[in-house]
Amino acid sequence: MRYFDQPAHVLHDMLKQKEISAVELTQDVLKRIDEVEGSVGAYLTLTKEAALEQAGKVDEKLAKGEEIPFLAGIPGAIKDNICTKGIKTTCASKILEHFIPPYDATVMTKLKAESPVLLGKTNLDEFAMGGSTENSAYHVTRNPWNTDDVPGGSSGGSAAAVAAGTAIWALGSDTGGSIRQPASFCGVVGLKPTYGRVSRYGLVAYASSLDQIGPLTRDVADAAHLLNVISGHDDMDATSSATVVPDFTASLREDVKGLKIGLPKEYFTKGMDPEVERAVRAAIETYRSLGAEVIEISLPHTEYAISTYYLIAPAEAATNLQRYDGVSYGERVEGSDLVEMMTNTRTEKFGEEVKRRIMIGNYALSAGYYDAYYLKALKVRTLIQQDYTEAFSRVDVIMCPTAPTTAYPIGSMISDPLQMYLQDICTVPLNLAGLPGISIPCGRSSQGMPIGLQIIGKALDEETILRAAYTYEQSQDYHKEMAPLGGKH
Ligand code: GLN
Repeated sequence: MRYFDQPAHVLHDMLKQKEISAVELTQDVLKRIDEVEGSVGAYLTLTKEAALEQAGKVDEKLAKGEEIPFLAGIPGAIKDNICTKGIKTTCASKILEHFIPPYDATVMTKLKAESPVLLGKTNLDEFAMGGSTENSAYHVTRNPWNTDDVPGGSSGGSAAAVAAGTAIWALGSDTGGSIRQPASFCGVVGLKPTYGRVSRYGLVAYASSLDQIGPLTRDVADAAHLLNVISGHDDMDATSSATVVPDFTASLREDVKGLKIGLPKEYFTKGMDPEVERAVRAAIETYRSLGAEVIEISLPHTEYAISTYYLIAPAEAATNLQRYDGVSYGERVEGSDLVEMMTNTRTEKFGEEVKRRIMIGNYALSAGYYDAYYLKALKVRTLIQQDYTEAFSRVDVIMCPTAPTTAYPIGSMISDPLQMYLQDICTVPLNLAGLPGISIPCGRSSQGMPIGLQIIGKALDEETILRAAYTYEQSQDYHKEMAPLGGKH
């Protein structure tokens, strides 16, 4: 039997029943990594020895008859923009090539309390800026469903690892879709929690008013379990919510009778792949047949979401990335004086896309243009938030595609940044409004590529989106199919 294709909740039960040991499970996933990582490239750093040691400790606890927490002994991976004490955290940038954080992000502290097995750090677009993982300064990551295609991004490494069975679960971060869109492209589940639900302490900042950490998993139950582990108030993050965290696994019920689903007409836009639209509409029909009520709604400011996001995110990024100056942070490139040293450092060590965003951000924030761009964007952000408030007075959840297309060939879009930005139409509005969203597999294209359904919830109401996601998942088998990657076991 192979274990790498099982969700964490199944493996947890097997560990408790002593049907497998944590070391056996870890060896199985490490073997899978040996077999397929060469053709996927999900990882930037692998910590195989430490992983086996961690597994050994869990087996000792099991041998003593101790109770084990949910994640104990289950191998997972962490996006490389989340600080891991003593383990390199590069953000897929040359400027942090040798950066070893002296502390753990709060999510890492929470995870470690569960004794998971940590396999390594996953690839991303440099500083999480991008939607294909092609902006990594190190290597491309390939989609396990078709290795000529991108895995999506920026959490492409985390999504590809879960899809390839080279991690059972993973953490990603989502500023404008970076958990949900790669989940959609790789046929896994990706959950962006409400802004403030999960502490951002130790997540290397891209755009601080939008960033959130969340899980990428094989199924909805695992997403609920992971969210239980990482959620909660943190004194180290002033924006983290003090609201009591429910037990999200209580939402894993098949129950959508009377659930009011809003279908925003603006999200079914021109340029959407007809196969994506068909699959998403079929999923909505499934909900209807299960007793949900489908209501057409309007989110009238959606058309401004991309421009609003691509002003606010770069403006915050330009500010956050000031610290990489060769003094406070960053690999220094020498120069004849301080200014030249800083110029050389930033010129040589930042990639193209990062520099583009720093320039856009500084332009939008500069004295002559602040009112016209940044301030205007903040006002439109409020209008987008109000659209949702109005819609959620009539419906319980909103559904739409996660992305307008399925995964596309590596290299096909990278030279056209604007085209790339437009791909984010379905995901960025949620971040602007701070709302939770989940992407779950809801079909395959004629090429066999995964299609994702996005379910958007009210602020701090992850429970309803989890319940809706779980109910749909029980009605089909997409989450049980493994990406058709090589590597016979
Ligand atoms: N694709 C979006 C961007 O490039 C979203 C990235 C993210 O969520 N980190 O900014």
